[in-house]
Amino acid sequence: MTASPGSPASPAGPGTPGGPVLVLNAGSSSLKYQVVNPAGGRALVRGHVERLGAHGLADALAQVTAEVRAAGLSIDSLAAVGHRLVHGGARFVAPTLIDDEVLGALEDLVPLAPLHNPPAIAGIRQSAATYPGLRQVAVFDTAFFADLPPEAATYALDRAVTEPLQIRRYGMHGISHEYVAQEAARFLGRPVGELDQIVLHLGNGASAAAVRRGRPLDTSMGLTPLEGLVMGTRGGDVDPGVLLHLIRVGGLDAGDLEDLLHHRSGLEGLSGHHDFRDLEDAVDAGDQLAARAYAVYCHRLRKYVGAYLAVLGGADVITFTAGTGQNVPRVRADALRGLEALGVRVDPARNDRVRGGPARISTDDSSVTVLVVPTDEELSIARQVAALLAGL
Ligand code: AMP
Repeated sequence: MTASPGSPASPAGPGTPGGPVLVLNAGSSSLKYQVVNPAGGRALVRGHVERLGAHGLADALAQVTAEVRAAGLSIDSLAAVGHRLVHGGARFVAPTLIDDEVLGALEDLVPLAPLHNPPAIAGIRQSAATYPGLRQVAVFDTAFFADLPPEAATYALDRAVTEPLQIRRYGMHGISHEYVAQEAARFLGRPVGELDQIVLHLGNGASAAAVRRGRPLDTSMGLTPLEGLVMGTRGGDVDPGVLLHLIRVGGLDAGDLEDLLHHRSGLEGLSGHHDFRDLEDAVDAGDQLAARAYAVYCHRLRKYVGAYLAVLGGADVITFTAGTGQNVPRVRADALRGLEALGVRVDPARNDRVRGGPARISTDDSSVTVLVVPTDEELSIARQVAALLAGL
């Protein structure tokens, strides 16, 4: 069956079982792509198209196709296309083969992730049209957190209001948290099922997770990716009364609030810098606003670490990952400063040496092991796609 644009091929051709997976991560203005060998973990092709225009996705996938061929591969040699979806709502709690019914259900979830899910859905439609011979699979950032305990997943608001609207804490970055928790255990040579871990995913978006023996107990993002830690352009936790005040006194409407909370808050809102490299440069140049933003960022992190030490009843491992977590030693040192009484001791020399990881940065006498572990969301997606296909 041939897919027409806008319709995924329902019983699409099987692709090549065991072949590499094309992983697409479509954002509002950009497309990240990789062709990954799930067995070997090697990215055969990787790239990034910025500033997608009107025909953006079609053009971007033409570029992907050209690069796949330039790498000596054919589209037919791929196993499938794996799409990263930020929000799976209550329904999608595992990687899912996409057909028209699933696509409709994904459309229904757009109100839960209005900025993040629509570009991914557009990516699925375009990919189905461009690669009608390949299966399309959705992998969800919320899935790892689907069985968050009710006490962590529930907002203490009137159930009669929240439940019909499926308002609960879903959690995001699950693809990364799950992968990193497993990789941390692997690095330590221990089964993930024996370790209580705190994972700190610090990228443009940032979130923390408390993971007991491989399963999540709590996480910092909620209904949407706005809750929790301070991020590049999102401020994380805020008194809901601030939003009421902004509506009543500041005259902001829902669109204004969405723009403020997603794009003009966090490090950007406090200092004018959303990229951590620029923030560090400004701090080092003596910029007081940058110094304040940096302090707020680290303070919030330390609060979450303390909270999750309590939630877990003490942790075996704290792991830093993603762009900032892997590359900014001072954040790791400052976020964990003063936690010696809780058994957390970072070795300054080990910490300063690490860019990327995997590596241990705690002292030998620290009762909590502190690690830096590189995340690889594309590899995780490729593996999840391969596992789904192998079970069909
Ligand atoms: P991610 O979302 O994981 O790509 O992380 C993006 C964030 O990581 C941005 O704030 C970057 O400035 C930061 N980052 C990435 N590499 C470095 C680096 N070498 N030094 C400092 N920050 C970095």
